[in-house]
This record gives sequence, structure tokens and C-alpha cells, in this order.
Amino acid sequence: MKTIDHWIDGKLTPSTSGSFAPVFNPATGEQQAQVGLASVSEVDAAIESAARAYVTWRSMSISKRTEIMFRFRELVVENRDYIAELVSIEHGKVPSDAAGELARGIENIEFACSIPTLLKGGYSEQVSSGIDVYSLRQPLGVVAGITPFNFPAMVPMWMFANAIATGNCFVLKPSEKDPSVSLYMAELLKKAGLPDGVFTVLQGDKVAVDRLLEHPAIAAISFVGSTPIARYIYSTGTANGKRVQALGGAKNHMVVLPDADINMAADAAVSAGFGSAGERCMAISVVVAVGGIGDKLIEAIQERLPKLITGPGTDPTAEMGPLITREHRDKVASYLEGAAAEGATLVVDGRVNDLPAEGFFLAPSLIDNVKPGMKVYDEEIFGPVLSITRVDTYEDAVDLINKHQYGNGTAIFTRDGGAARQFQFDIQVGMVGINVPIPVPVGYYSFGGWKASLFGDINMYGPAGLEFYTRTKTVTSRWPDPSTSSVDLGFPLTR
Ligand code: NAD
Repeated sequence: MKTIDHWIDGKLTPSTSGSFAPVFNPATGEQQAQVGLASVSEVDAAIESAARAYVTWRSMSISKRTEIMFRFRELVVENRDYIAELVSIEHGKVPSDAAGELARGIENIEFACSIPTLLKGGYSEQVSSGIDVYSLRQPLGVVAGITPFNFPAMVPMWMFANAIATGNCFVLKPSEKDPSVSLYMAELLKKAGLPDGVFTVLQGDKVAVDRLLEHPAIAAISFVGSTPIARYIYSTGTANGKRVQALGGAKNHMVVLPDADINMAADAAVSAGFGSAGERCMAISVVVAVGGIGDKLIEAIQERLPKLITGPGTDPTAEMGPLITREHRDKVASYLEGAAAEGATLVVDGRVNDLPAEGFFLAPSLIDNVKPGMKVYDEEIFGPVLSITRVDTYEDAVDLINKHQYGNGTAIFTRDGGAARQFQFDIQVGMVGINVPIPVPVGYYSFGGWKASLFGDINMYGPAGLEFYTRTKTVTSRWPDPSTSSVDLGFPLTR
């Protein structure tokens, strides 16, 4: 059985804990590897290596750090097919979807390549007689990232590109369900010239995460994953004095107003609902049909479903792969069971399919007449299940979304610019699409939801990422001029 190691001090390092987790091929259901789970002493050793590396890394010139980021970007681009394949084998998403994930991740590296401009401070001359003030942004030290299974390449890039470019050392704890891509990125970073210890991959579970949360040398934690764990990471990390950004789960609504182009809205709902088998935090989960558009819309969505090709990533025609594990597939399927019992209408039941039984497959499902109070509406499903909720008015749609516990992404489909602008004003959600179903911000903006979709004050990547991984130092400076020197016990005034 292949064993997946850590990456500590610039090399593959086998785990010594004796504790392992299985890594499956979700398309076949076979266990293809095991991953070593770090013990507390392994976490400590990894952090020590990162802390040693920090001393020289933060002193390295901005231009040398930038050069490494550029070389890394080239290596990722050169090897993008291989990386997409690695993602597909462990995660299950089809290679074209994995390539899309990577393309969006590369944006974050490109952003970090602009670090010489981005890290410029401010300078004010002559704030008082002979006195100047300037501000600098300095790295935090050793920072950690804890990432989910669903974007094993992109989400780590959201974090480490900015963290490293700003002079921090980064310890990544990837999902134990698809841990290999992180190791390959570590190899590429080394090839790009990154000194040993600046980027560490620590494989592990709760034991490793808890040690990262309490270790005094970890200055900040970035987390992306489900809401209960995000809440825990935020409360524990901040109680231990760390800077924390913890992104959680989602339930993304797509509002379709009566004037919308039905075909465009149906294409968007199907693409955003079933892409990556619905295992995206920005997937559309609920289509909110406003006024009398419901019947036509559901008909347009339904007629598209039989044309979707579900299958393994090795099938070049497949558009949607399996779910990550058997347990998760069964949990998603249980929402279908529950929805019918709660009074919703199961229009297409994805449990009825002729997909390979040994893989973790579930075909697309469509549920109509879904309402608040039903589990299928209130909870994040994270699978290929699209719900339709019918409301009478625009105001009802806004009210529905604003009352939901999650506020990650949302979208509105309409031809009415005024209605779209009002929606953008009214809606209590962090990322909004106007006729765009998956409004993931580009790498030079920042990503973050509201309400139970984000704990902390600073969004991820882009300008917010720079802010997160640096702290400001403000210097007030005067050169000696004996003629103006005197004893003065008053509070310093600007004159
Ligand atoms: P998860 O919360 O189960 O795991 C995320 C990470 O936390 C993993 O590295 C895991 O090892 C670790 N972890 C799990 N249980 C833990 C515990 N009890 N204590 C400490 N650490 C623990 O999430 P997942 O299933 O890997 O990913 C899917 C979830 O991530 C969905 O809820 C999805 O919405 C969310 N997600 C959110 C975003 C976003 O940007 N908001 C992006 C991607 C995924």
C-alpha cells in the first residue's frame, strides 16, 4: 500500500505516529493509498523547521522572493495537466474541472508575483518640524493553513501564495482525503528555489489541527472547511491569541425574476448546481423562482439533466464525477429521502442510476417545492442536488436569503438593471453574481462570505490576504539636530 508522507524541511518525511487514514479513488471505491497522520511531536518538529527558515526567509530581498514566485508560476503552468490528473484521481472531479480549479489557483500566484508593488508602505514627510512618519508591512512569522477536500490545489494557493510572498513561513495541513497535490506543490516550490522549511506540508487530522491551534509559534491560522469546524477553529485560535480567518459552509441561492431569459437561467442553474458534483462552496443549491416563472423554469432545468454525463475522470466525455467518500454520498442521498418525507416534490431522483455501484456516484437530483424548515433547505448538502423554492415576489426572495444562516454566494438572473442593483444593495451575502451563477472573485479581489460562512474579520486572498499575512509597523523618525533639542515632558505635539 502506497503511503503518503509529510513535507518537512524541504523533503518527504514519513510519519512516525503509526496512525493512518485511507485515501480512496472515489470513482472505483478502492483504497489507493494511506496517509500518515501527524502526532503532536511531528507537528512540533515541523513548526521548529519553519521557525528556523523564517529567520532567513524574511530577510531575503523582495526581488528574490518575487523571482521564486514567478518561477513557481511557470512550473505550475508547465505541469498543469499532471496536477489536474492528481486532483482527479484522489478527489474524483473530472480533469477539465480540476484544470479550472488550477487556473483559478494560478491567479493567486500571479497576484503574489506583484508583491514589490503591493507591499509598498506609506511615507509622510515633515509631519512636524524635522519629523517624518512612514508605515511598513511586515510578515507575521510562521502561519498555518487548514484546507478542505473539495479544492485540494486552489484553496491552498488562496493562502500560501500571499503568505510566502509577504515573507512568512507556511505550514499547510491539507485534507486527509486528497493529500497528494500539496506534496507535488511543495516539490515545485523547491524547484522554483524556495528555501527548505518555508513551505511545509503536515498531513493529519484533529490531532495535528489542535496542536497548530495551541502552538505558541503559530502566529495566524487560515481555515477553509465546514461551518462547525470553522467556528471551532476561530474560537480556539483566537482564544490562543492567534489571528484567524475561518471560512465555512454555504447554501447559495439563485434568484430568477419573471423577466429573466429562461434558457440562460436554466443553463446557469444546471452548470452551477452540478459542476464538481455540487461539492463547491459556491455551488448553487437553491433556485428561487419568483412569480409565475416556476413551471417553465423547472421544465427547462429538468430537460437538461438527462444530457449530463456522470462518470469517472478517466472517461473523457464525463462532465461530473463521484462524491468524495461513500459516507458522504450516502449522507447526500439521505436528503432526498428526507425531502419527500417533509413534503417536497422529488422531480428527479439521482439514486436511480446505472453508474458503477462500487464508485461513490450519485446522479443529479432535482427537488421542487422546497421550503424553509425542511432539512433539505436549512442545511448545506454539498452534493448534486438542486432545490427549487417558489416565492411570489422579489421581496420574498430577498427575505428568504437574508434569513438563511449562510451568506457565502448568491446570484440574480434578470434583464432589469434596476432590480439587479437593488438586489446587490439588499442582500446579506458576501459574494453576489448578476447573471453570473458562481461569482468567485478574481485573484486581485478577495473571497469571503457573511454570517455563518466566515468567522473573522479579514477575507481570503487578494488585497485582504496581504492584510491578513502582514502587520503594520509605523515609524516616526527625526535626524539629530542639536539646535532643536530640549527637555519637554508634555505629550508630543505636531508643530
Ligand atoms: P471539513 O470541515 O470536514 O474539513 C476541513 C479541514 O478541517 C480538513 O483539513 C480536516 O482535516 C479538518 N478537520 C475536520 N474535522 C476536524 C476537527 N474536528 N477538528 C479539527 N480539524 C478538523 O470540510 P471538508 O468536508 O473537507 O470540506 C467541505 C466543506 O468546506 C463544506 O462545508 C464547504 O462548504 C466548505 N468550503 C468552504 C469554502 C469557502 O470558501 N467558504 C471553500 C471550500 C469548501
